[in-house]
Amino acid sequence: MTLERPVLVGRGLTKRYGDVTAIDGVDIDVWRGSSIALTGPSGAGKTTLLHVLAGIIRPDEGSVTLEGVRIDSAPDRERSRLRRRHFGFVFQEGYLVPELTAVENVALPLMLLGHPKAKAMREAYRWFEPFGLEGLEHRRPGELSGGQAQRVAIARAIITGPSVVFADEPTAALDSETTHRTMSLLESAVRHANAGLVVVTHDPEVAARCDVQISILDGRLRKAA
Ligand code: ADP
Repeated sequence: MTLERPVLVGRGLTKRYGDVTAIDGVDIDVWRGSSIALTGPSGAGKTTLLHVLAGIIRPDEGSVTLEGVRIDSAPDRERSRLRRRHFGFVFQEGYLVPELTAVENVALPLMLLGHPKAKAMREAYRWFEPFGLEGLEHRRPGELSGGQAQRVAIARAIITGPSVVFADEPTAALDSETTHRTMSLLESAVRHANAGLVVVTHDPEVAARCDVQISILDGRLRKAA
């Protein structure tokens, strides 16, 4: 059965910082099994939109609806809970917890959802071989290459079976070959989870891989494809 509605819907999203309108009346639909690239110059509002959609910040106006349920108006604690349960995040290199090993980083989202550590660790170990990370389980992030660290970050984003994965410049620190391999892994992991994917990127090649490209200028959307 296919559920013919977007998994995540933003309507009329506006966020201001003082005199700056970071996003201005944005409407956007995220579908399971589909990827969206958010592109545009620095300061256009891409990260603000990603944070509003993910419930990290609240919009001043408009609504964010996940599977038909408003999430923007939920209190902070509830939004945190919803984020942990339903969303995965991949950021630029460096967002792994440096004191934890790779496998502990991957297990962390499950522990934050209340799974016992032993069970979360067992589940985390399972991702290393298919993600080409075998043997790196006990390294700390500082002992991983940029590409390896992003593979760990993708495993961490996907381990909870999220509805939507948000990626903010996930390949910004990577060379082009590693970018290609990282995006292939991200796309296949998201497809496998039947999640939606929202990627903020400066890289035209990363944007072109996505199903939909949306460019943002001065907080407003212009659909490029
Ligand atoms: P992008 O991700 O496209 O570079 P941002 O969403 O980071 O753009 O920023 C959009 C606008 O909002 C910019 O003018 C930026 O300076 C401003 N802005 C973003 N976050 C903040 C903040 N926390 N405080 C003040 N201004 C902000």
